[in-house]
Amino acid sequence: MHIKQNVESYNIYTSNFAKSAKHPKAISVARFEPEYYFGQSYKLLAPPAWLLKASKTNAITEKMYIKIYIEQVLNKLNPIEIAKVLNCRVLLCHCSKDKFCHRHLVVR
Ligand SMILES: [Zn+2]
Repeated sequence: MHIKQNVESYNIYTSNFAKSAKHPKAISVARFEPEYYFGQSYKLLAPPAWLLKASKTNAITEKMYIKIYIEQVLNKLNPIEIAKVLNCRVLLCHCSKDKFCHRHLVVR
């Protein structure tokens, strides 16, 4: 059996609720899901509610949001463990494809 040892050997995809809420491999990484979503979620990667609020009210810049998200969420997790759990899954958030979103930070 081939053992995957680095994060690069995993495939993690991203999409949003509007497009992929019913995708069989979908898993939400949003703090709050839309009412019509009944799939799985992975709250370890969801941004804290206070951080979301701060970014929505423009209390912090996108750059600050990214820095805080990396420090407070991603740096506390084991990348290999996360990659194993999310391998071949489609990470869902509310944001549209071309907009900045924390799910892209996760994949990177
Ligand atoms: Zn997002």
